Amino acid sequence: MNAPRNPAIHPELTDALRAAVAGKAAAARTLLADAAAEFGDALAFANSLGAEDVALTELILGAQLPIEIFLLDTGRLPDETYALLAELEARYRTRFKLYFPDAAAVEGYVAAHGIDAFRDSVPLRRACCRVRKLEPLARALAGKQAWITGLRAAQSPTRAGLATREWDAGNGLVKLNPLADWSEAEVWAYIHLRELPYNALHERFYPSIGCAPCTRAISLGEDVRAGRWWWENPDSKECGLHKHQ
Ligand code: SF4
Repeated sequence: MNAPRNPAIHPELTDALRAAVAGKAAAARTLLADAAAEFGDALAFANSLGAEDVALTELILGAQLPIEIFLLDTGRLPDETYALLAELEARYRTRFKLYFPDAAAVEGYVAAHGIDAFRDSVPLRRACCRVRKLEPLARALAGKQAWITGLRAAQSPTRAGLATREWDAGNGLVKLNPLADWSEAEVWAYIHLRELPYNALHERFYPSIGCAPCTRAISLGEDVRAGRWWWENPDSKECGLHKHQ
């Protein structure tokens, strides 16, 4: 259990918040059950182990919905993320499917550019994300018709207007975002009400957790995306997993 230190992730559990969360959780569960029935084995949940994805894990596994859950292990994740992975696997008595980067592709990138070359330029950062995330994601989604993400409209300006169901032209799939209309407070309320484990880094002011070298803590009130690739211009800060024009 994480010791509470970050007030932003401990909203007051008022009756209004509890009621809002109950309604949204029921709607999300219905959406997920309908998707499982519609797509069967051709549906998968890309779990990044962020707060939203912990909530989705509970919505899926707590209701025993037959939805494949997979993770991308980039090889650069923080220890706290692996600890959470182990905790979730123990809680649900399951093993998540992990996809790793192609070893030869990582070796080639590191040999050509250096181990931390993602700091040298935006193209090299994108190339690292391509090798460590996008290619494994493409393998994970091969043969699928739809995928589930924990994206929320309120997460960043590039995600405003996000729908719960959209066409993902980049991957040629239906993309389902069951938490699209959830607020950050609702996500955290759901986590605490269900007593779900979460990444210890959230208590240390990390809002959005990715690879260890590319993620940092932010100040209260700062935009959540300020915690990722902070050395870059804000306009370049999508990793390519989720693009919204
Ligand atoms: S987030 Fe950083 S370390 Fe992770 S794949 Fe992208 S550039 Fe590489």
